[in-house]
Amino acid sequence: MDDSIEKRVEEIGVTLLEGLRASSTGFWSKEHWISEFAGALMEDEALRIEALRFIDVLPTLTDDADLVHHLQSYFESVELPLSMVSHWGLEHADGFIAAPVVAGTVRASVSALARNFIGGENAEQIGKTVEQLWGKGYAVSIDLLGEAALSEAEVAMIQQKNSELLQKIPSFHGFSEAVVRQCNGADLSIKCSSLYSQIGRANVEDSVEHLKLRIRPLLQQAMAQGVSVTFDMEQYDHRHLILRTFRELLMEPPLRHWSGVGIALQSYLRECHADLESLIEWAQVRGAPVNVRLVRGAYWDTEVVIAGLNSWEVPVWMEKGQTDANYEACLQLLFEHYPVVRPVVATHNVRSQAVALALAEQHGVDPQSFEFQVLYGMGEHLGAVLTGQGVPVRIYVPVGELIPGMSYLVRRLLENTTGQSFIQQSLNSDFRKELLLPPDRRERGGGRSSADRFRNEPPRRFVREEERRQFAAAIDAVSTSLGGTIPLLIGGKPHFPRETIHSLNPADPSVVVGEIACANGQQAEDAVVAAREAAAVWGRSSVQERIELLQRVAGRLRERRDEFAAWEIFEVGKSWQEADADVIEAIDFLEYYAREAGTLFQGDGVVLQGEINHFSYQPRGVVLVIPPWNFPLAIVTGMVAAALVTGNSVILKPASDAPVVAWKLVELMQQCGMPDGVINFIPGPGETIGEQLVQHPDVDMIAFTGSQQVGCRINALSGQVIPQQHHLKHVIAEMGGKNAVIVDRDADLDEAVKGVIQSAFGFQGQKCSAASCVVVVDGVRERFIRRLTEAAASIRIGAPDDPANLLGPVISKVAHERILGAIEAGKQIANLALQVEPKQDGGGYFIGPVIFTEVPADSFLAQEEIFGPVLSVIDADSFEQAIETANATRYGLTGGVYSRDPHHLELARHRFNVGNLYLNRGITGALVGRQPFGGFNMSGTCNKTGGRDYLLQFVHARTVTENSLRRGFAPTIEGGHG
Ligand code: NAD
Repeated sequence: MDDSIEKRVEEIGVTLLEGLRASSTGFWSKEHWISEFAGALMEDEALRIEALRFIDVLPTLTDDADLVHHLQSYFESVELPLSMVSHWGLEHADGFIAAPVVAGTVRASVSALARNFIGGENAEQIGKTVEQLWGKGYAVSIDLLGEAALSEAEVAMIQQKNSELLQKIPSFHGFSEAVVRQCNGADLSIKCSSLYSQIGRANVEDSVEHLKLRIRPLLQQAMAQGVSVTFDMEQYDHRHLILRTFRELLMEPPLRHWSGVGIALQSYLRECHADLESLIEWAQVRGAPVNVRLVRGAYWDTEVVIAGLNSWEVPVWMEKGQTDANYEACLQLLFEHYPVVRPVVATHNVRSQAVALALAEQHGVDPQSFEFQVLYGMGEHLGAVLTGQGVPVRIYVPVGELIPGMSYLVRRLLENTTGQSFIQQSLNSDFRKELLLPPDRRERGGGRSSADRFRNEPPRRFVREEERRQFAAAIDAVSTSLGGTIPLLIGGKPHFPRETIHSLNPADPSVVVGEIACANGQQAEDAVVAAREAAAVWGRSSVQERIELLQRVAGRLRERRDEFAAWEIFEVGKSWQEADADVIEAIDFLEYYAREAGTLFQGDGVVLQGEINHFSYQPRGVVLVIPPWNFPLAIVTGMVAAALVTGNSVILKPASDAPVVAWKLVELMQQCGMPDGVINFIPGPGETIGEQLVQHPDVDMIAFTGSQQVGCRINALSGQVIPQQHHLKHVIAEMGGKNAVIVDRDADLDEAVKGVIQSAFGFQGQKCSAASCVVVVDGVRERFIRRLTEAAASIRIGAPDDPANLLGPVISKVAHERILGAIEAGKQIANLALQVEPKQDGGGYFIGPVIFTEVPADSFLAQEEIFGPVLSVIDADSFEQAIETANATRYGLTGGVYSRDPHHLELARHRFNVGNLYLNRGITGALVGRQPFGGFNMSGTCNKTGGRDYLLQFVHARTVTENSLRRGFAPTIEGGHG
């Protein structure tokens, strides 16, 4: 901002602040108790978190005693500021008369709070609100609140509601047309995420097509009725497809000539300014003006957390001053380009409003030609002051049921009760001068997480076009290299025996992904000899050399990650995101074990005067690695990398359903300089070649991951000592699971349904960690099952090289037949709630999602691993019973709980008996270093891959003690006497 503008900003700002001070009806004085409550929230962080969490769960608490129980649990350690709910009432509310009184008071209070921000639950109430606002000279933008749209059935309902709202809006006009005209009519805000249930990161093209299909009729209807429409902006992951949908639709005739349409942009995004520039260019080409609603953005915390968890670049500005500065820069761009774009200044920040007014003056933009927007229930006092400046003010009015509207309310409360909020500051006169200062753009930095923590490899952020394009190019390239011949590798030399097996594409088995050499008994024997010889040398190499080799492999894999992922798509039928996740997990294993080896081999010991004790590790020798096919790169890499970095040599017998990807890893290791014989590649049938190797006396250790049946057999065979053997074999056996997710009565169903769908049907349910059971607590059953089945029915099924398909084929013909057999058997003992029949073109091994309900807890559906897209729902009367049911299998791998009851979460922490327990999230996708993975009981030996203890499995520990006293003389030790 130049100096002259800055001066004007200050003058206008002072006028606005004066006006504000004069309007005595501030937001927080609306109701005394709201003011008391909000005041307490502002001051006390612990209280704020508990109070907002409680408000979030409240809609599910239909039972009075349950409500009181939650209230007691949430406010155990923080003082509740609601005067109406006395602590006496709470403490004595259990069970009898006080519970309904306390519960009733709380519901009434929170509903009253919600009513301040939500414009109405039905047409009549909404009409009244709109009427009142129009009466005061405001325009409106109506936003339909609701739950997330998890299924196409829910999308259809939301679409219908939006259309009904549009129909009603003209009748709101009826009573006061003059005001309506003056205020530029009414506006409907739409949320793209509620109009396609499969909206995703990778399937951008598919999402845009579906969104256009749903939004087009709404726009046509709005245009016919003279109501404007604004596309709301949502999370960063949706930004690109919202912008694309908007542009593509608005270039279609007759919409192309319509100026009653707009889009929101968020100044907290670093890319916002560039987005606005390209939107302006596009609007110039389009030829009709569009509205740009400039907001700061309401998902800042979510964006920072999501980026942090995925090791992604944070897309938002980290400092409030930077967001503010960006807001002003975007305002400048908007006013410079009026009327190509029409500024909609949606902020409660007085300085930003003053900047807008000053820029309008500078560019000669008539005050009637742009508008301010403020939030219903929070900005009307601001609105009154702004209308005084001759600029139209529109109130953004969320409408819908108070209960589903609670999450909106929580966001609004968060926005307005955290330290940096403007409204809070504007009420405090000390801040007023500061409020008009230009934003401080400095990046403070610091305070971020520690430098030393292991960082996981970031997944592809497929919403970015460049990343999608590269990935698609890798798929194309790999599709032209399928069908090659893959050798055995013994002592560094490739062998091409006559006997081969074919690895087929499960989405189209007529496509051969690779022709793989099949080892015979002699070759298996040769591999052991080669490995033994190599172990003697490799075991004496320096740990640094081994670490560097692993890091080199990680580096090369990082460069070729898309290509490796593409091979997985063709060989095992992983979706884009699943394939990408498997490759980066492999990179993580290499980097993590390299790092851990450095610590492990440092050596240790107690040194006393006269006695030196040295504690160290040495490799075991020859490690036989037997992986499953379902994480074709990550699991193989994890086991192989752990064995190699600890100085062992490896014989890798790949899974017969995924040998090509395993070979690609071996080849990469060779290219990175792995000495001959240190890794040997011996494909062949498990029952013959696998067992021969397991029983070989020169194999020291077996690292197995696979089914329980094979794991138990390997464990038994390797325990049989034969005469030539000099050691007991060490066996790691990571096996299957029958994993349950408990859905509690108070669970957030938006989250629970999403998490269960992802955990049960991600990669067609073919993960050891997959959810194959849901134990649902009485009280939420009907709603949960309805939403779950509708959501599962909406999943797109098809070949995984197309990112629109989220459910691909199962691995093989054998698996296909086995799973279909289990489904038929299941129909005899449980209720089939859903079976989606996939289209069977191309002969792929597709099976649509299947959900059984009323499943007996002792039946095979509840007890045995099916390893396919089949989910069993079991009923429980209480949370305690649900835990018992979930524990009542022979397995102990993963489990999950969706609950907002602190006591139930605590109970699960202690009693839910699994190796990996997940609270309020999906149960798959453990990350190296963050969630060390593995189960106990019949799920395995629980050695926790990707954890600190894993490498210990691959070494022997030695202690060397030396008497350093010679002829009465011992070297000095630090701090001792010579
Ligand atoms: P699987 O047990 O059929 O095969 C695993 C490996 O063992 C393959 O390489 C196979 O060739 C080999 N094999 C088979 N019979 C053998 C024998 N008699 N002797 C030696 N080797 C033999 O399992 P799968 O179908 O490849 O994988 C799916 C299973 O793996 C599921 O049960 C899943 O739960 C489990 N799994 C567990 C984990 C975990 O970390 N706990 C991870 C992934 C998969």
